[in-house]
This record gives sequence, structure tokens and C-alpha cells, in this order.
Amino acid sequence: MSEETKVPEDEYEKVCFICRRPESRAGKLIHMPGNMDICSDCMQKAFNSLQSGSLSNYQEILKNYPGMGADLLNLNELGLNSPEVPKRQKLKKKKSQEESAPPVFDRKQIPAPHQMKGQLDEYVVGQEQAKKAVSVAVYNHYKRISADPSDGIEIEKSNMLLIGPTGSGKTYLVKTLARLLNVPLAIADATSLTEAGYIGDDIESVITKLLAAADNDVERAEHGIVYIDEIDKIAKKKNTTTRDVSGESVQQELLKMLEGADVEVPVGSNSKNAMVPMTTVNTSHILFICGGAFPDLEEIVKRRLNEKAGIGFAASVKDTFDKDKNILSKTTTEDLRQFGMIPEFLGRLPVLVALEPLTKEFMLRILKEPRNAIVRQYQKLLAMDEVQLVFEEEALEVIAERAMEKETGARALRSIIEEFMMDIMYEIPKDDNIGTVTITKEYLEHTGGPRITMRMR
Ligand code: ADP
Repeated sequence: MSEETKVPEDEYEKVCFICRRPESRAGKLIHMPGNMDICSDCMQKAFNSLQSGSLSNYQEILKNYPGMGADLLNLNELGLNSPEVPKRQKLKKKKSQEESAPPVFDRKQIPAPHQMKGQLDEYVVGQEQAKKAVSVAVYNHYKRISADPSDGIEIEKSNMLLIGPTGSGKTYLVKTLARLLNVPLAIADATSLTEAGYIGDDIESVITKLLAAADNDVERAEHGIVYIDEIDKIAKKKNTTTRDVSGESVQQELLKMLEGADVEVPVGSNSKNAMVPMTTVNTSHILFICGGAFPDLEEIVKRRLNEKAGIGFAASVKDTFDKDKNILSKTTTEDLRQFGMIPEFLGRLPVLVALEPLTKEFMLRILKEPRNAIVRQYQKLLAMDEVQLVFEEEALEVIAERAMEKETGARALRSIIEEFMMDIMYEIPKDDNIGTVTITKEYLEHTGGPRITMRMR
């Protein structure tokens, strides 16, 4: 039996069919034939319309409930008369005070920063500084949630900004973190977000995703993590006379949500329409992590550092900071402001974390070391056919070098391996006698084949 079918029916809230308010807000609902629930306010309005005597068709009722539109006319067509209303559109009930033990969120379950980093180490190679900073920020975030505010000391939110080139593991770090903490995670792309009313996703769609990741459990969603990628793409545009709908104004709209606001979202759907129940999610305890590659930010940081050192940008040949590969770790809020992020927005992302750029050595480690390293994944696949897969060290180096050329970061590793592994995965199961396949440098350079060893009989 699946997890979902095990959930008792009454864990989900009923929602008024007409005004879409859940029972906790609209009061006791009246169950109607056709598996509809209607709140007493809407029922009263319906009676009033009937008494006015003009309900020969649905015109009058539609006037009272504009949100319903013509949908009411087609109940059968919509399948709403069938006993099964889709479960994903149902909303989990908020637990009452007495019921709420054990709480959805228990701070004791959050590992201390050193333990969290230790767990991250198993999956995320290198990025020591970033893993440390993220562990501390997350630990503080969850401490803040459970802190007693009665002494007047309010701990500020520790939302984060991850800076690092494409494929340097920003999303991967956040995903791993959410999985280890067992909290719901929503990932959104800042480029798809627009101000309400423009084409694209509303800012609130991020919270809709989080609610879905939390299985429509509002309390779980309220303790989740939201990752907004490509945040550098909503930097303020320089020298523009047209209204900036995708940049600065999106930053403005995000402000409230980052700080903590009540966001009204549809349950189990991306669109707000009459048939979808709505609920309110408070974002004060949601951890927001933004990430971006911030191209050219390096130049801004270097210029500032050089000016401070009195060298001047023109003397770029002697540039003291040019050789520093990890220059982004010296980024300040001022640099990001120069880049085009508005100060209020940056103020709500107090933890700045820079990821190291990827080197060939780094790529090699990513290939081999993580618990779910790509090499290990393929070895596991072939082991199921009782075939041992070996990668020569030189072959791994070729893969790392090619990945460096592609400039899509560690993401390139998988596509390179997939390309040549396809043939291996196709050919090997043909012959039961094959015991070991060794991927050689020659095979990758098309000057030879993989080394095949037969099984001992
Ligand atoms: P970004 O979000 O920075 O563009 P991703 O997080 O999507 O990059 O990284 C792409 C892939 O590269 C990940 O799915 C992961 O498999 C791998 N990867 C990147 N950095 C690391 C790392 N430090 N350790 C292990 N794997 C990594």
C-alpha cells in the first residue's frame, strides 16, 4: 500500500466548493450531494438568490459568486459529481494546540553544524568554506524558529546568497542539505518569476511548489527551504528607460516573502482559479537560499580591492588579485549592489557564501569521491549484470579535462560519461562471459577500445 493511501481521510481539510475557503476559516461545511461541501455563508447567499425568484438558470448565482464562472454549469463534465475528488487538491488540517505534540518541527533533530558538515562531506566534495557557512546558517535558522521571543530579543533570519559559477554545486548543496534535514524543498528559477500580472510565474508560485513538496501540509511547508536559482538575472538593468518588469521590480516583490509574510496560494495547482482551494502559508520560518553565477562580479571585486590597495585598475598587468582564483570569496554587499542587486534585497540575505571555482583536480574528485559519484553509479549498474567496471586513472583525467572545456561546470561530467557508456551498456549484456570492462584513455580518445576480461570458468 502506498504512503498516500495510508493517510486517514480526515487528515485533510474540506474546502468550500464555492468560495474555496478551508473549513478552518469558513466554519463547519455542509455536505451536499455530488460530493460538494459548501460553507454556511455561501449557502445563505444561494438561498437569498433563490428567494429573489429569478434563478431560472444560473445567472443569478453566478453574479454572487463571480469566481465560479461558467464552470458551475458543467459539473458533470468536470467530474465533480464523482465521489473521488483528487487527493492532491486537499489540504492537510492544521493541528490544534493539544493535538500538536509531537510538533512537526523538532529542533533537536537538527544536527549541530559540525555534524551537518560531516554529513554534507559524504556527498559534496571540497567547498569546505561553503559547507561550513551553510551548516552554521541552517543551524541558526532552526534555532531561531524555536527561540522564545518573550525576552524581546528577536534573532534575524539567516537567509543565504550562494555565489559561484555554473555547475559549481550550488543547487546540489541545497538539495543535499534539504534531504539530510528531511525538510521540503522548492527550487525556482528567478528568470521565470515576474511581477504579478505579467506573463510568467507569480512570486507566490514558489510557495505553491513548496506546499506541493510538503504534500500539502502547511506546517511542514512553513519549515521548508526555498532555493531561487539564477538570482543574478534579476539584477537592476543599467541605463534603461523602459519599465523593468523582470529585474528590480521582482527583487522588490521578493522582499516581503524573504522577510516573512502571509502568502495566499492555491492548493495542488499552479493556477488560481475557482475550482482550486486556497490556503495561507506564512514565510517567516521558511529558509530562503538564493544562488547565482554573477558573471563579471569578479571584475567588480578586483577593482575595489585594487583601488583600496592604491594600485588602480589601469595597472592590470601587475594586478595583485588577478592570480587569486577564489576572488569571489572576498565579495561584499557593496560589490553586489554595484552588480545591480538592490540594498533592501541584499539586506534580507545576510549570509554570503562563495563557492570555489572548479579545477581539473576538483572535477576528478567529483567523479570518484561522493557517495553517489557518477563512476559508482555506473559500477553499480554493471554489477547487477555481474560485470566489474574499472576506470583507468588516465581515462578519468581525460573526462575531467573535457569537462573543463565545456564550461558548464561539473554538470558536463555526466554528459561526457553518458556519451561513451551508452555503447558499453548496449554491448556488454550481449556476452555472458565478460567479467571486467576497463575504460582506457585510448578508448576515450578513439584510438583503441575498452579492455575486456573474460570470466574465469
Ligand atoms: P549549479 O547549481 O551551481 O549550477 P549544480 O548544483 O546543478 O550546479 O551542479 C551540477 C552537478 O555537478 C550536480 O548535480 C552534482 O552532481 C555535481 N557537483 C557539482 N559540484 C559538486 C561537488 N562539490 N561535489 C559533488 N558533486 C558536485
